[in-house]
Amino acid sequence: MRSLIRFGLLVGLCLLVGAASAQSELPPLFQGAPPPVSTSSMTSDGIRLDLYFASLRPGGSGLLRLRGAGIVLASYVLRDEAGRFFRLDDGEWHALVALGMNERPGTYELTVTVQRVEDAVSFARDVPVEGAGFILQEFDLPADRAYLASVEVENDELEMLAALTAGASAEPLWDASGFELPLDAPLTSPFGSFRVLNGARQTRHTGWDQRAPRGSPVRAMAAGAVVFAGRLEIRGNYALIDHGLGIYSGYAHFADLLVAAGQTVAAGQIIGSSGNTGRSSGPHLHWEIAVDGKWVDGVAFLGLWLPA
Ligand SMILES: [Zn+2]
Repeated sequence: MRSLIRFGLLVGLCLLVGAASAQSELPPLFQGAPPPVSTSSMTSDGIRLDLYFASLRPGGSGLLRLRGAGIVLASYVLRDEAGRFFRLDDGEWHALVALGMNERPGTYELTVTVQRVEDAVSFARDVPVEGAGFILQEFDLPADRAYLASVEVENDELEMLAALTAGASAEPLWDASGFELPLDAPLTSPFGSFRVLNGARQTRHTGWDQRAPRGSPVRAMAAGAVVFAGRLEIRGNYALIDHGLGIYSGYAHFADLLVAAGQTVAAGQIIGSSGNTGRSSGPHLHWEIAVDGKWVDGVAFLGLWLPA
C-alpha cells in the first residue's frame, strides 16, 4: 500500500508539473466569438443537434446545441439523469451535460427530446466515457484538525453544497469576460484525485488547488451572484457563486471573505483573500466548479466554448 501511495504521489507530481506548464496553453474562451465547429451533428425533421465533444471523462462536461424552427422545450437524458436546454439570446438552445467523477468508463446513451408546438423530435447516440486517470495523494492533517477527516462532517457539507448547487438560473449570469482562473499561480493538486487522510480515510478532491501565500487576492472566475459566503468545517471560509444555467464556482480556505450572500459580483472582482482555514494543511486556494450539482474538472471546463 505504501509503495502504491508513493507511486501515486510520484505520478501526481509528474502530472502536476504537466498541469502547471499546460496552464498557459488553455484555449481562449468564447468572448463573443462565433462558436467553434461542432465535433458531430445529427439532423432530424428540420432540427439540428450539435455536440461539442467526441467523448467525456468522469468529472467531464460538454456542450450541446439545438437549432431549428418552432422549438418550445428541449431536454436530454444521460446516465438516467435528465437535464434541460436553455434558449439564449441568439435564439438557439444550449445544454451543458456533466458526468460525476465516480462514473465508470464505458459507452452510455444520450437521448435528446425536442418539443415543438405540434410534435416532438428525438435523437439518441452513444457517448464513449474514457478513464480519467485520477491520481492518489496522501495527506496528514494537523492534530487539531484531525476531526475533519470524519465521514459525517464531509457528507453533511457535501449535502449542503449539493442543495445549493442544484438549481439552475435560466439565464447566463456570466458576461462576455467568460471564465478565468481565480489566481495567477501554479496549479498544485488536480481535480478528482483520491486522497488518503492521515493514512486511513479515503476521500476525493472536488476541485483544483493553486499555490497562494496567505492573503493573496482571489478573483471571481466569472460574473454571477453569491449564494453562500461563510464558514464551513472542511472548506473553511468559503464563497459559492451562481453563474447561471446550473454552473457554480466555489472558493475555499479563505483568510478573509469580502462578499456576502445575495450580492452580485463582476468577473474578476476580488472576493476574498486566501488562507488556511478548514481542512487544510497550509495556505493555498482550493476552487471548484459544479455543473447541475456535480463537481467537474474546472480546468477542462475553462477550455469549453460557452454561449455568451
Ligand atoms: Zn483542494
